[in-house]
Amino acid sequence: MKVYINGKYYDKDDAKVSVFDHGFLYGDGIFEGIRLYNKNVFKLPKHIDRLFRSARAIMLDMPWSKQEIMDAVCDACRTNNLTDGYIRLVVSRGKGALGLSPRSCSDPQLIIIADQIQLYPDELYQNGLKAITVPTRRNSHAALPPMVKSLNYLNNILAKIEAQNLGYQECLLLNNEGYVAECSGDNVFIAFEGQLITPPVSAGSLGGMTRQTVIELAKKLGYELIEKPLTRFDVWTADECFLTGTAAKLIPLVELDGRKIGTGKPGEMTNNLIKAFNEVAPVEGVKI
Ligand code: PMP
Repeated sequence: MKVYINGKYYDKDDAKVSVFDHGFLYGDGIFEGIRLYNKNVFKLPKHIDRLFRSARAIMLDMPWSKQEIMDAVCDACRTNNLTDGYIRLVVSRGKGALGLSPRSCSDPQLIIIADQIQLYPDELYQNGLKAITVPTRRNSHAALPPMVKSLNYLNNILAKIEAQNLGYQECLLLNNEGYVAECSGDNVFIAFEGQLITPPVSAGSLGGMTRQTVIELAKKLGYELIEKPLTRFDVWTADECFLTGTAAKLIPLVELDGRKIGTGKPGEMTNNLIKAFNEVAPVEGVKI
């Protein structure tokens, strides 16, 4: 596997950034997780748009055009002979002086890792995942806006640790008002009385690419899709629930906080959406 750093490729063990990079020192940087399905980079232009929005939000001047970055992503996939894979695109603030100020950093680093990922075993896609609500709240819009896909993931990592300490692989994070925000790295949907419901991003979730794809697929399948604030009660008493994310794709959630969701098995709408997603994913995207 070869890692792309600023236009050059390095073997895995030689792919390094400076310890003075503020991405390393402070989590000062941004990233994208992107999927390659059947030699198509899924929703690549949309991922790059989101990356540039993250950059704008943290005032990181991107010295590359969107096209240059897209070309580099495709090149990294070709260089690694990938047909299917997971692409981690990282932009760090670059090397600088000790001290928070990004003004001492003038050389942002563009890193592309094109590899494989299997987040959950197949069994969980068949039978569903169990999760627990954790005490850690989602970052507030007034602190670190959750829409920024930044290199500082401690909020989500703390939540994940809390879940794992209790024997769960995934967790639900609420926002400061107590409404459902999202899971540690995935958006949340429920099905209730035939409607598909997901919290608005204003509730503290990332504007997920997979979330957006599901919203589009739901319309195609004729499902009524509503974005509205959800409480834990809504999830506990839903007919179905599933999570969406680039790495996880769509995965059924069959239990939250010890309450069985619906029948406790992946539901019909969930399974139909998984099927629809698996059909569009390999054909929608930028050919490498
Ligand atoms: N929320 C968070 C916090 C995430 O990190 C991610 C991406 N892993 C998502 C939601 C899902 O977004 P996407 O579908 O774009 O991967």
